[in-house]
Amino acid sequence: MHPASARAAEGLDARFASVGDDYAKLCAARLNIDMTRGKPSAAQLDLSNAMLNLPGNGDYLQADGGDARNYFGSVQGLLEARVLFARMMGAPPERILIGNNSSLALMHDCIVYALIKGVPGGAAPWSAAKSIMFLCPVPGYDRHFAICEAYGIKMLAVPLTGSGPDMDIVERLALDPSVRGMWCVPKYSNPTGEIYSEETIERIARMPTGAGDFRVFWDNAYGVHHLTGRPMEIANILELCEQAGHSHRPLVFASTSKMTFAGAGLGLLAASEANIAWFVARCSQRSIGPDKLNQLRHVRVLRDHAGIERLMAAHRKLLQPKFEAVDAAFARRLQGKGIARWSKPLGGYFVSVDVHEGCAARVVALAKRAGIEMVPAGQTFPYRTDPRDSNLRIAPSFPPLNDVSAAAEGIAICIEYAVAEHRSSERKG
Ligand code: PMP
Repeated sequence: MHPASARAAEGLDARFASVGDDYAKLCAARLNIDMTRGKPSAAQLDLSNAMLNLPGNGDYLQADGGDARNYFGSVQGLLEARVLFARMMGAPPERILIGNNSSLALMHDCIVYALIKGVPGGAAPWSAAKSIMFLCPVPGYDRHFAICEAYGIKMLAVPLTGSGPDMDIVERLALDPSVRGMWCVPKYSNPTGEIYSEETIERIARMPTGAGDFRVFWDNAYGVHHLTGRPMEIANILELCEQAGHSHRPLVFASTSKMTFAGAGLGLLAASEANIAWFVARCSQRSIGPDKLNQLRHVRVLRDHAGIERLMAAHRKLLQPKFEAVDAAFARRLQGKGIARWSKPLGGYFVSVDVHEGCAARVVALAKRAGIEMVPAGQTFPYRTDPRDSNLRIAPSFPPLNDVSAAAEGIAICIEYAVAEHRSSERKG
């Protein structure tokens, strides 16, 4: 071995030994911290406790005089609730549908209805085609990918660039008539924190597609979930698609799961009139109507868009220190070492970390042994397979701040350890 490489190898082994000590200490601390899913903390849920007493004894009249306790009105949801969320959804109330407790369920149902019945502008149900494919910007939301997998929709991964998916690739793949749709989390994306640029959104709206009934599943789950005092805005996909002559292309989703109560909030859909009519017609067989009392509860507590902003500012106060703690721990241990890059999101619920190729699964295993539960490596990719074994998703919202700091420090140690181990085995190999 060249003397310089021998010295470098010795240096590496010395560092490996010291990070080995740090890892042993970490294990001895017997942590028990769950950093897996982006759940709101109890303190965040407390912000909406007023809802537990709403709409209140005797308060059940809808704006149109209907009785929210009874079957009444359309499956589209209460008008006053659709008015409340119109600005957040970027659509007028008549183009909004408010479902029950889960936006993911609305996405799932759109796909199932498209498969079985087809969509407006489509010649046949999607399932009539030999092969159906979706474009999946990566890393992305595992539950989107799970829906595709469950229904045999082939997923084509498209890399994210920092301002949305690589549009040269998207535009090329979208020309294939088998490609029927695309997942997008356009703002404070799960997990990269990505904010799609105006140019990206315009290209998505304008691009020619091989399938005449192509749908963009625009999951704006984090549209009002800012982590700084400077809220970011993105272009309105509904308007841009309409201008481009593709008004049926976007299905826009949002959720109050991370505003009021997770799993006990409201799922929202905004789309063209034809798409809303299509969804209403489909789900009218499924249900007589949504839980209007929950919609009324949200109207009473949030009141208007300013009320939404006030609530989200209170969430930010609780969340921001946790994201700062993750960044501080990573900067302390990993900065300048060339072994990991991590996102500094301006909103949303996640920090995305890209570690040295081939090390992500090992980091998760080391963290687990040290009592830090992370989402399995690969989960942020179609078929749960990250071809580079590099991406990790960190969810700092749920544990208390002290635990978040300890977990971030611990994960950074695991990253250093896994990379040192990997390099050492490469050298030996
Ligand atoms: N979309 C994204 C991008 C998410 O991260 C989540 C998880 N909160 C959801 C949808 C699920 O939302 P819901 O609870 O409304 O089903």
